[in-house]
Amino acid sequence: MADVKRVYTFGNKEAEGNGKMRELLGGKGANLAEMNLIGIPVPPGFTITTEVCAEYYRHGKQAVIEMLRPEVEKAMHNIERLTGMKFGDAQTPLLVSVRSGARASMPGMMDTILNLGMNDQAVEAVSKRTGNPRFAWDSYRRFVQMYGDVVLGMKPVSKEDHDPFEEIIDALKARRGVKNDTDLTTDDLKELVRSFKEAVKRQTGEDFPACPWEQLWGAVCAVFGSWMNERAILYRKLNNIPAEWGTAVSVQAMVFGNMGENSATGVAFSRDAATGENIFNGEYLINAQGEDVVAGIRTPQQITIEGSKRWAKAQNIPEAERAAKYPSLEEVMPAVYKELDEIQHHLEQYFKDMQDIEFTIQDGKLWMLQCRNGKRTGAAMVKIAMDMLREGLIDEKTAVLRCEPAKLDELLHPVFDKKAIASAQVITKGLPASPGAATGPVVFFAEDAEKELARTGQKAILVRIETSPEDLKGMLDAAGILTARGGMTSHAAVVARGMGKCCVSGAGELEIDYKARTIKVNGFTVKEGDWISLNGSTGEVYLGQVATKAADLSGDFGKLMELAGKYSVLKVRANADTPKDARQAFEFGAEGIGLCRTEHMFFEGDRIKAIREMILADDEAGRRVALGKLLPMQRGDFEGLFKAMNGFPVTVRLLDPPLHEFVPHDEKGQREMAAEMNVPLQKIVAKVESLAEFNPMLGHRGCRLGNTYPEITEMQTRAIIEAAMNVKASGMPVHVEIMVPLVGNHKELRYQKQIIDSTAEQVFSERNDKIEYMVGTMIEVPRAAVTANQIAEVAEFFSFGTNDLTQMTLGFSRDDIGKFLPIYLEKGILKNDPFQILDRNGVGQLIREAVFKGRGTRENLKCGICGEHGGEPSSVEFCHYAGLNYVSCSPFRVPIARLAAAHAALNQK
Ligand code: PEP
Ligand code: MG
Repeated sequence: MADVKRVYTFGNKEAEGNGKMRELLGGKGANLAEMNLIGIPVPPGFTITTEVCAEYYRHGKQAVIEMLRPEVEKAMHNIERLTGMKFGDAQTPLLVSVRSGARASMPGMMDTILNLGMNDQAVEAVSKRTGNPRFAWDSYRRFVQMYGDVVLGMKPVSKEDHDPFEEIIDALKARRGVKNDTDLTTDDLKELVRSFKEAVKRQTGEDFPACPWEQLWGAVCAVFGSWMNERAILYRKLNNIPAEWGTAVSVQAMVFGNMGENSATGVAFSRDAATGENIFNGEYLINAQGEDVVAGIRTPQQITIEGSKRWAKAQNIPEAERAAKYPSLEEVMPAVYKELDEIQHHLEQYFKDMQDIEFTIQDGKLWMLQCRNGKRTGAAMVKIAMDMLREGLIDEKTAVLRCEPAKLDELLHPVFDKKAIASAQVITKGLPASPGAATGPVVFFAEDAEKELARTGQKAILVRIETSPEDLKGMLDAAGILTARGGMTSHAAVVARGMGKCCVSGAGELEIDYKARTIKVNGFTVKEGDWISLNGSTGEVYLGQVATKAADLSGDFGKLMELAGKYSVLKVRANADTPKDARQAFEFGAEGIGLCRTEHMFFEGDRIKAIREMILADDEAGRRVALGKLLPMQRGDFEGLFKAMNGFPVTVRLLDPPLHEFVPHDEKGQREMAAEMNVPLQKIVAKVESLAEFNPMLGHRGCRLGNTYPEITEMQTRAIIEAAMNVKASGMPVHVEIMVPLVGNHKELRYQKQIIDSTAEQVFSERNDKIEYMVGTMIEVPRAAVTANQIAEVAEFFSFGTNDLTQMTLGFSRDDIGKFLPIYLEKGILKNDPFQILDRNGVGQLIREAVFKGRGTRENLKCGICGEHGGEPSSVEFCHYAGLNYVSCSPFRVPIARLAAAHAALNQK
């Protein structure tokens, strides 16, 4: 234990750590060290390691202080040596800042304390040394306020209460009749310090600590403590940051941006974090401390002239007024600006990424307080990576790895206008089921979405307790879908993602009253026709219309996709059910269709009528008549799919869902069906009842349908083969794969294959021609995975249906998981929603076993995945490692999967 080094010093172009030590020093500590090593002016200081954070939680406050004391005292002497000041000294007191810094940046999530070391003697000394008593007392007042808040817990008593310190300030300002903090005199500030301390004594029963060392230990421990504050926990959860990482603490000599008109503080980016444009930009404030820029009390000014002019234009401020009232740093302090510009350039060239920097100018001297790779939007991410590649700053592989697959999503769907969203009223939150932004009037029934569109040309927001295949057309006509029930693989979620349509699912707080046509939620009542807006990327639901703008797929996006293709091993296909989806997928670079859910074709126009006729038929002959009506429609759809894919493989799955999904369950619908089919209502009711099952997902569905009604398989095979032959005859290449769903036993597949082969032979002999086709199966029943060696005797390819495979392996209903998932996540029983992120240890092992056994039987067995996981980056990575040939996902996830596939291949080395 004695040998463990817990504190790393830096200062005056020397450092014990370096930029590679993020795990130990946190991002901030590592970069502070590195900036010193490359000659950037940084106030001296030291970093306490992230390992100490773990020790803090293991051994407690006092033990950690004792462990740290010798090293921290030594490190403090180092700062004293470099600054010529002394911590706790009455004449030349050294003041320090204490900041957090985790391995991954967590902006604003943990606590910071400035001006530490201030007390009744120090304030006098600072006042004397600077000749600026107001500055000294303002620094003291800020310190007592920050320390009181962060370390001593001087928070508002309840949500409705004000911050206790702000209350004191407001009361004083009211007494003095002034509006701004800057109007307060030195005497006012003295009074504030006194009142603040009294408030601390009143609330905590303790005196405000005057001893700098006591202050320091309190602050260091408070930073460790803030690792577990609610904000930080939530941020980690949202960004998948493990709690074990801990935070480091950096202690640094204070430099002051509030020492007068020749001092300033600011934040800047080496490129535009919103658009990626290669333009240095940022904000600063004269005579201010860091928190003033963030707090937004004073209007910060732009750093560059160009930025300042753009800002003024957006605010409608005339040039003369801008130059007089809001000049840029470039204009106000040209020499310092020049140095800052050189430093930002140096840092970007050095770290080879866009930098987010914090700086302070103390009496004309520039100091860098922090630099890190800047957070950016999806659009900026792609542009910056491609620009840096063109500039020769990074190579192709780095450019690909720089782009986070999941963030591409932002580029593919319409997005909300940032300003509009900031002021929008959130009424509830559901699951971010399908990304994008949607706004429109509320409708509660699928046909009303169609009507709304036909009548007004306006797309509606379809609000349902849950959706069913009957709602498909309405979903297609809606701008977005909101459901009260259902998880990330619920019908609404899957279908919406497939359509690239915004969807928020499982918003459990919604009380939907279909009769009254209202939604009640959190005190709001929304009626049919009222506008709401959905954010499919966050799950937020807003009241009213929030402005959106279309996604912009620039040339850089295409270039990135080209590089992703170059470096990936896995192919990416799309799940597409219509020629339109297929064309969209092809445009996004899909190399085939991995899943066409044929049943989705049954809901349009007259088709539902034909399928209902088949369901109602009393015998095989009647069923064949009805199926005969469906044949030309299916054939036409398949032709469209084959054409759109231009020779890439198209996997068509035979009918999968239980038949009850095709009949209405409410009386009104049943009456309509009876009238339309010209049969007594009683017959419909009886049929619907006979189709009812206790466990439809485990009932009469999948290949069980084709094996009990072989004529369905016959019709579908005929439609597929005839379509392929027609397209081939028109001179286009076709690649046909027929897929049998829900096989658990190789004999189920053998029966289906016999029907498929004999039907194909029949078509071949009728046409006196032949085409190649393959027959394969979905692996979505656990038994199929463990008997894959037998199944592969028949199947020419496997496609893992990980929606059902997850459902049956974990025993979680994919439609009901929403009821317990949030609690399971909170308790840590589950780390993720297994329907979103593949359960590697369970489902993943079944996949590995099936691939291994399948290829044991058939060496070149083609294996892919077509469950929702096929478009989720970490699951795509798993598929790469498991040796699959391709992943298949909704068209709008194709680019994400392509980039994730490239990442998996590049990261493997
Ligand atoms: C699956 O189960 O993973 C699958 C793709 O089929 P579906 O979602 O249609 O049941
Ligand atoms: Mg399935």
